Amino acid sequence: MKRIYLDYNATTPLREIVASKLLESFSLLGNASSVHSHGRGVRQVIEEARHFIASYFHREPADVVFTSGATEANNFAVKGFNGSVIISAIEHDSVLRANPKAMICQVNQEGVIDLNHLETLLKSQQQPTLVSVMAANNETGVIQPLKDVVNLVRHYGAYIHVDAVQAVGKLSLDWSDLNLDLISISAHKIGGPAGIGVLIIRPQIQLTPSFTGGGQERSYRPGTENLLGILGLASALEACQDDDWTTISLLRDELESRLINLNYGVKIFGSKAPRLPNTSNILMPGVRNNLQVMDFDLNGISISAGSACSSGKVKASHVLAAMNVPSSESDQSIRLSLGWQTTATDLDTFFKCWVRLYERTHPSLVQRIA
Ligand code: PMP
Repeated sequence: MKRIYLDYNATTPLREIVASKLLESFSLLGNASSVHSHGRGVRQVIEEARHFIASYFHREPADVVFTSGATEANNFAVKGFNGSVIISAIEHDSVLRANPKAMICQVNQEGVIDLNHLETLLKSQQQPTLVSVMAANNETGVIQPLKDVVNLVRHYGAYIHVDAVQAVGKLSLDWSDLNLDLISISAHKIGGPAGIGVLIIRPQIQLTPSFTGGGQERSYRPGTENLLGILGLASALEACQDDDWTTISLLRDELESRLINLNYGVKIFGSKAPRLPNTSNILMPGVRNNLQVMDFDLNGISISAGSACSSGKVKASHVLAAMNVPSSESDQSIRLSLGWQTTATDLDTFFKCWVRLYERTHPSLVQRIA
């Protein structure tokens, strides 16, 4: 049985082109801080990668700080900022839990940031303030109105951090127009290896580093550079520019229509807002999401329920809670996230499994409908 992977927002397959780049790089030897030619050779390839990443975001190479992933990048931005912090209620845990004093900005029922509330919070600040808003949500795919957020933030003289993990590669954002202060990205969400990410830092921002050490990454993130990770990240970022998300979004939309047309009470959370092309958060009425995940898994399909913590247990979704979805419904919702290897046949198989599970768990209802 060919397994079907529909969990791209959790992590993505390593792209072939990235894998071959990594294989080529295994033979590289040297510590980029060494002055001998081995070290200088490695320094050169790291700086080429940094250059490419900077140009992707319309930044200078010196603005690119490599980290161990977006969790670290987000923590660095939100903990390292000296002043008040405002974050949206639907941020990833790496933002949400990084600063217990952070003020929380509400979202509406579709999961879009409440700009009036943001303005109220910004107005009441007496000291330098950082606003942290994700570009697109990992659980629902809902895209945030970054341009409006940036305009408000600038109006009140505050700073802006964007967790762009789920948006990079899937959305064509105008990075130079947005002119953000801090941007987090992660390689394993775009077909690169896990364990490498970037925080882009505008030179005007001063952050307090979490680590001390040998002074690498402008002392912002000391430690010998993750050479393979850095090359993998740059290569994935280059490759993801060729992805065809239009086809993926048509497949996603068609699946959602088929589910809704069953008239079984399916809801798709966040679907009235602009969304990522690959994400669908689907309510199967009356069936706990952990049961759904298990059933799909037994049928060869990998999906996810809400957000899974590291123990693998399913915890209640703070994202759906912030959207005022009752816990009885969020406990019955799963997240599907498609990617470049997803086919129409995969989604047809998913649909059939979905219907089988629903009908098995609602025998009387199905008979009545029939
Ligand atoms: N932010 C978002 C929106 C994410 O989806 C994730 C990964 N689940 C992270 C941050 C953390 O990224 P990493 O796995 O690189 O630490």
